[in-house]
Amino acid sequence: MKYDGRMADAQLARVQGEMRRCRRCPDAGFPVQAGAVFSGRAGADWMLVGQAPGQTESDLGVPFCGPSGRRLFRWLAECGWDEDEFRASSYITAITKCFPGRATSGRGDRAPSRRERLLCRPHLECELRLVRPRAILAVGGAAIEHFLGPGTLDERVGRTFVADGRVVVPLPHPSGANLWLNRPRSRVLLREALAAIRAVRDEERP
Ligand code: SF4
Repeated sequence: MKYDGRMADAQLARVQGEMRRCRRCPDAGFPVQAGAVFSGRAGADWMLVGQAPGQTESDLGVPFCGPSGRRLFRWLAECGWDEDEFRASSYITAITKCFPGRATSGRGDRAPSRRERLLCRPHLECELRLVRPRAILAVGGAAIEHFLGPGTLDERVGRTFVADGRVVVPLPHPSGANLWLNRPRSRVLLREALAAIRAVRDEERP
C-alpha cells in the first residue's frame, strides 16, 4: 500500500500519546521513571535508536540532550551533521523509552532488562512502521543487537548492514561509562562508522 505521510503522522501522534501514558514497566515492578522520551515525525529519512534515556533526557523530555548527547553530536559534527539539522530531519527514540534509573554499581545508568525491552518493543515496532526510515543509526549494544542480533561492537562498528530493507549503521554508546571507547582500536572503528554515516546520508532516498 502507498505510504500516506499525513495519515502516518496522525497515527504516529496517537502512538506517541500512548507511549507518554505507558506504565507497563513500573506496573511490572521495574524501577523506571515513567515518561517516554522521543522526538520527530513520520517520514524522517533516519531513525536514531538508543538504549534508553538518561535522567536529564527524562527531566527535559528531549532525547540525547545530556552528557551522552553532547558527545554523540560532537561525533556527528565530525561527519558534517550539525545537531539542529539532525534533530530537525531525524526521528530519535530508544529500545526502552523511559529512564531506567542509575546502575546499582554507581557507574552509569541501569541497563534495561530483557523483559523491559520486550515490554517496550511494540512501541518501537509502531514507530518503525509509521516513520518508515530509510536508515537506522543504532546507538549502543542494545540497539545494535535489536536490529542485527548478537555480536560484538568490534564486529559491527565501522560497517553498514541491511536489515528488513533498511540500512543499519551501528555506533557505540557515547556514555562516559562506555569503556570500549577508550581503546585506540575503538577510535579507528568510530572514525570508520562516522565515514559510513556520511556515505549513507549522502545517498539519495529512492
Ligand atoms: S520503557 Fe517503554 S514499556 Fe516501559 S513504561 Fe516506558 S514506554 Fe512503557
